Amino acid sequence: MEGLFPQIRRGYVRVAVERGLDRYPLGLTYALDDDLADVSVGERVIVPLGRGNSLAEGYVVETFPETDSPGTIKHVIRRDDSAPKLPADLLALASWIATYYLASLGPTIAGMLPSAVRRGTGSVTVRLIELADPPLEETRRRPPKQQAVLDVLESLPAGAQPVERRKLAELASLKTCGPIDRLVSAGSLIETRRTAIDAAWRQAAPPESIAPTPTSDQQSVIDSIAEQLDSGFSAHLLRGVTGSGKTEVYMRLIDQVIQKDRIALLLVPEISLTPQTGGRLMSRFPDRRIAVLHSGLTDAQRNQQWAKVANDEVDIIIGARSAVLAPVSHQRLGLVVVDEEHDQSYKQDATPRYHGRDVAVRLAQMAQCPVLLGSATPSIESWANATSRRTYRLHELAERAPGLTIPRVQLVDMAMERKHQKQGTSMAIGPSLEQALEDTLQEGGQALLLLNRRGFASYLACRNRSCGWVLSCDQCDVTMVMHRQHELPRGGFVRCHHCLSEQRVPRACAACGGAMGALGLGTQRIEEALASRYDCLSSGNTLRRIDSDTMRTADDLHTVLDAFGRGDVKVLLGTQMIAKGLDYPGVRLVGVIDADTAIHLPDFRASERTFQLVAQVCGRCGRGNQPGRAIIQTFNPDAPAIRLAAENQYRTFADAELDDRLACGLPPSRRMARVVIQDRDDKRCEAHADSLKDALISIRDQTVEVRGPVECVINRLSGRYRRQIELFAQTPQALHQTLALARSQGLLEVADRVTIDVDPISLM
Ligand code: ADP
Ligand code: ZN
Ligand code: ZN
Repeated sequence: MEGLFPQIRRGYVRVAVERGLDRYPLGLTYALDDDLADVSVGERVIVPLGRGNSLAEGYVVETFPETDSPGTIKHVIRRDDSAPKLPADLLALASWIATYYLASLGPTIAGMLPSAVRRGTGSVTVRLIELADPPLEETRRRPPKQQAVLDVLESLPAGAQPVERRKLAELASLKTCGPIDRLVSAGSLIETRRTAIDAAWRQAAPPESIAPTPTSDQQSVIDSIAEQLDSGFSAHLLRGVTGSGKTEVYMRLIDQVIQKDRIALLLVPEISLTPQTGGRLMSRFPDRRIAVLHSGLTDAQRNQQWAKVANDEVDIIIGARSAVLAPVSHQRLGLVVVDEEHDQSYKQDATPRYHGRDVAVRLAQMAQCPVLLGSATPSIESWANATSRRTYRLHELAERAPGLTIPRVQLVDMAMERKHQKQGTSMAIGPSLEQALEDTLQEGGQALLLLNRRGFASYLACRNRSCGWVLSCDQCDVTMVMHRQHELPRGGFVRCHHCLSEQRVPRACAACGGAMGALGLGTQRIEEALASRYDCLSSGNTLRRIDSDTMRTADDLHTVLDAFGRGDVKVLLGTQMIAKGLDYPGVRLVGVIDADTAIHLPDFRASERTFQLVAQVCGRCGRGNQPGRAIIQTFNPDAPAIRLAAENQYRTFADAELDDRLACGLPPSRRMARVVIQDRDDKRCEAHADSLKDALISIRDQTVEVRGPVECVINRLSGRYRRQIELFAQTPQALHQTLALARSQGLLEVADRVTIDVDPISLM
């Protein structure tokens, strides 16, 4: 291996290699040759890796002049200039994430960077064209093609300019953009360049938004947080009922922050919220530089947004979970806001399994600025921090914003409803909801209907009761979900919602040959039932379904929401996607078709989830000048989570829930980590889990409790058996001491067979 060990060394570096290397979680040491002596922290380099010295990319995370055992150390091969340097602040955050969530640093860093940045791909800009103002005097006659362009622009109504360059060419029946470009260089037309995202949002944004005057409640929240803007780190929880004007509070604070020439970061859950909140921000701050980061972007778009932040060319950053990993300068960051902080989409379900909200709090600590978490239904964790622990300051908005009404919420006991149901009506929608929907439609109102179950039927079972065979996935211990597709034999196909494998709908029961029945109603079935029941509803038109089957891209969602906003769509039917932050004044009715979907889940957060879902979706109506009503169908009208959500009694619910958690030693009263062991062989999985448990017990901090192993709720997934061990501790430090020790001893090394989830939120 000549060349690998040259003589002159100019210092050493620790390199976090991108490829998963659990044995070296925080990086490997390499030596620097003469010509690389000035390599610094944050640079991307190529290094030899493993016995074969295959080339690997990694980031320099530390430099040092000497090392104990220089003889065996390999050398950095070269710099990789194709990637930008990782800012030191971002590296510091990455190190914290890797340590806290027990992930390897290299892959953690790699996951933070948009892939396009790593590959150095170019960015996408939109070129917008408008007439020069005042128009350029031109004496010569223009060529006909150029004249056509000018004619098109002049004929457009005011406000329709600027027009995207290619679109303009199309409107002027041109094959190329040449004539447009010539007019631009002649000064007859003005061209502005924007990122594709900016352009799309500015088009979607309401033309101008006049900021409402804050109510005195809003103002006192704004004032008390604004007081802290120059005082380093502080954490705030804003609990405001749905429609209380939390977003207005965020915007006023953001305004103050950017006035001070600092940067504000706003996190919103998933992409569903981004267009609406984004549009509101754009129209409030039309002259500000806003970066947008979310999973719906193309690589090139993400690259561009990322670069904008890294080059310090932004005032406001908005985005979903990963926006917390934007390369923002800690010194300039002035405020971090996490909207709907309870939302589960903030937790990443792949390594590193970080929680965007918790990273946001850590980021604010590093940047020494305030962090504001907002929700109508805060997570019990944040509630504990704001009440019993008092590490967060609690602010409350108890009233809805002026002009909004409190929805009238009616709990409907489905056991009673069924008795009154007429023959032949849809089983899922009881008489009360049916009547309410009828009335709403007749009055020209809009409705949102929630059913948190995708597909046509959750399972297919043998109709013969003495048999009871249920079609389940070959690879997973879950039932196959039926999806409707009329052109297929037997009207659809079945799919596993975990491994995504698909099959044909079986002709008959595999056990007894009897007839099969489709059970457990999903959104698709309700859609069919509604379309046939109400004359004014037709699928894909006035009735739209929103779930992950129909909404494949952010664009799909925007299109439907736009149509709903215009009033073209009367009823939106969907899964929890519709419970999140939608703000449409025309909604007069919210119907929860089955409030019980989460309540029996084997998860200690089942009540919390149920409460949040019901309370959030009820908050989607009564936002216009008409009062709204919500109808909640349940078989458990007395369950506290459902009753209190209907009564809008968050405090009562949260305080009781917190007591229950304390009594059982569950988060947030203790910290938790979950270790899942997977194996294709069940016996080997069991043995591995048992030995891991013994090892953990022998090295644990005395205050750490180790529970298990037990089979996971979904015992087999994609052909792998799964067992879990749970660790509980009073403090995160104790938990980490044990886990870090386990890792250093190689117990958690087998990345694809053992996964660790710190502060897990999903226990399936
Ligand atoms: P939340 O985020 O708490 O659900 P929003 O910020 O979406 O509430 O506010 C709900 C509606 O009330 C929005 O349309 C908003 O423009 C309006 N609004 C908020 N604050 C005020 C105010 N002080 N006066 C009038 N309207 C307001
Ligand atoms: Zn499966
Ligand atoms: Zn059968």
